[in-house]
Amino acid sequence: MAEHIHKCLSCNIYTMKKACPSCNGNTIIPRPPKFSLDDKYAGLRRKVKVEELQQKGLY
Ligand SMILES: [Zn+2]
Repeated sequence: MAEHIHKCLSCNIYTMKKACPSCNGNTIIPRPPKFSLDDKYAGLRRKVKVEELQQKGLY
């Protein structure tokens, strides 16, 4: 697994480390993964809802 780019919001710099090399504070990963589990399950819930409505003849 490749290392993530981290960013220190205090110094506004990028680093490969979880601790900022400048202020030693916590860094964050600026971009979330492209595919998130939340989106996947949200889409699944919508699909289930539509099928449920179709069965009831409401869609
Ligand atoms: Zn910093």
